Amino acid sequence: ASMRDNRIEKTKTVCTYCGVGCAFDVWTKDRQILKVEPQTEAPANGISTCVKGKFGWDFVNSEERLTKPLIRDGDAFREAEWEEAYDLIEKKFKEEKEKNGPDSLAFVTSSKCTNEDSFVMQKLGRSVIGTNNIDNCSRYCQSPATMGLWRTVGYGGDSGEIKDIEKAELVIIAGSNTSESHPVLATRVKRAQKLHGQKVIVSDLRKHEMADRSDLFIQPSAGSDLVWISAVTKYIIDQGWHDQEFLNDHVNGLDEYIESLEPYTLDYAEKVTGISKEEMIEIAKSIHNAETTCFLWAMGITQHGGGSDTSTAISNLMLITGNYMKPGAGTYPLRGHNNVQGASDFGSMPDRFPGYEFVTDDDARARYEEGWGVDLPSEKGLNNHEMVQAIHDGNLNVLYIKGEEMAIVDSNANYVQEAFEKLDFFVVQDVFFSKTAEFADVVLPASPSFEKDGTFVNTERRFQRLYKVLDPLGDSKPDWQIIMEVANRLGAGWNYEHPSEIMDEAASLSPMFAGVSYDRLEGYDSLQWPVAEDGTDTPLLFTDKFPFPDGKARLYPVEWTEPIDFGEEYDLHINNGRMLEHFHEGNLTYRSEGITKKVPNTFLEVSPELAEERGVEDGTLVRLTSPYGNVKVRCIVTDRVKGHELYLPMNDRGEGAINYLTSFHADKDTDTPAYKEASVKMEVLEST
Ligand code: SF4
Repeated sequence: ASMRDNRIEKTKTVCTYCGVGCAFDVWTKDRQILKVEPQTEAPANGISTCVKGKFGWDFVNSEERLTKPLIRDGDAFREAEWEEAYDLIEKKFKEEKEKNGPDSLAFVTSSKCTNEDSFVMQKLGRSVIGTNNIDNCSRYCQSPATMGLWRTVGYGGDSGEIKDIEKAELVIIAGSNTSESHPVLATRVKRAQKLHGQKVIVSDLRKHEMADRSDLFIQPSAGSDLVWISAVTKYIIDQGWHDQEFLNDHVNGLDEYIESLEPYTLDYAEKVTGISKEEMIEIAKSIHNAETTCFLWAMGITQHGGGSDTSTAISNLMLITGNYMKPGAGTYPLRGHNNVQGASDFGSMPDRFPGYEFVTDDDARARYEEGWGVDLPSEKGLNNHEMVQAIHDGNLNVLYIKGEEMAIVDSNANYVQEAFEKLDFFVVQDVFFSKTAEFADVVLPASPSFEKDGTFVNTERRFQRLYKVLDPLGDSKPDWQIIMEVANRLGAGWNYEHPSEIMDEAASLSPMFAGVSYDRLEGYDSLQWPVAEDGTDTPLLFTDKFPFPDGKARLYPVEWTEPIDFGEEYDLHINNGRMLEHFHEGNLTYRSEGITKKVPNTFLEVSPELAEERGVEDGTLVRLTSPYGNVKVRCIVTDRVKGHELYLPMNDRGEGAINYLTSFHADKDTDTPAYKEASVKMEVLEST
């Protein structure tokens, strides 16, 4: 719908917040958003949305929106026209490539942006600059889950549809505050509990709403999930409860895997995790007695030094018990952002083309080289985490970030910001002047989801179209268009007139998306990948084989990695994550009045025991210090946390931002920061 004076318009869009992928109609008059109206035909949400989907939109009309390109002028910025900004980018990119080669430039795409935006960004890096230095923020969240699934079952995506979760007899949720982080998905579980007595087991450090609603809630010591999961798996095998028929038909590596479980006795697990043997036996029995078990997990599992291994252990457990290849069973890594799945799907990864083919695979590369008419780099590039280190080491000088608040969202924010200071040239493209933009040389004004056409892929691998609700504000433009214009300044000669043409190109190059087209995604129509050329999609990811050459899944032995220790001085473990109302650093939600009226700021959660011990009350201002920095926050005393465990929502852009405390330590297999392995000391600054 285009904007016409005084006309009320109704446009279908998809939520820009979490990975559930709620779709709904938006009613507008001029730029005024009248209401959000979900429809029964919306595949992920039906008639539901959460508070963010319903009220989190006035940011699109915020006075703080970037509406003109900005160019650094000493310590300040001045407004500029697009052509001047492009001139500067063209000059600097060309100079750097000439002087230090293509790998001294890097690109970071955004999981808030569309698949088409991501596709052109990785194409710019690969085909125009000639580097595979391209990544996205799934590096900060779910890469370990994807790794765990690639190793075992061959695809890094949810096993089935969100609505299939309702069919599960048992749901295990680990390290996921589902009712706040994926609210509408959580309602599926709540409904199944009510309608057919679905059993729910929750493992978390914190007693959140799903924990309260569960049949069994366990609180393992921080970072020890792999141990209880492996012990439960071993116990199941020892009892002969594994699904031998499924294993014979569909799985390799049983003997070696059983051997690797040797250390994970119930005694050992009880000692390490603090969970009782009885509770682990109860979990094993529950899985054994259920016809179908779904395992849901999120950042509480992945953001650790051994995040990939724990994710692997989860998939191993589901294989052992035959919990794949049927609706209501399998693995569901819960993707964070609306399009974090799609950003990776569409090649914003340093080692993968769109559709997850390796850049080192000669056949795949040859196909892209032919399609794009250029030679492409065959070596894997740098991921986000490596980019920061490469800047510190003097090996990376130019960075182009779109829609990513890396300055406070990456771990060890002080270290990241120091790296940004060292860049020779830094382009930031965003909807608002973010913290990251403060370090930029050029800031380009982008349009948010409401102002563009495109597609997102939600957590269940589902493509959905979003239609332009409003025209771009001021001089802002859709990301794909900006990137095309930058590419063309560098000699690319692209001429996409609509994002559908970008999707057609992606579908022609990537077998995984062969049948994806805008025609097949009209209105509320959707497709779940992989999508065959004739348009057949894949609601249930595995039906009779796994995507390995012999069609069989692989049990993958893993070992527990102990969480890092910050030293005795830092006596309080600090957990972190989302809250319902705000989204991440809050660049969008803090500019939505409908949300800030409800929740104006964040609080540090302190247990009643610790409050008593340190003289803390609701509203007390404290300073938390880690070896990497400090934050100032106000407290709230709650039994959601226990003992010396703290919880700080990640939703603060200022002096309460969690990543001033976290370290640069990361998952050993994917470089996902170990955000959940952090400890602090606490100092009371001011009582109420
Ligand atoms: Fe749905 Fe997530 Fe958006 Fe809430 S934030 S409306 S659950 S997509």
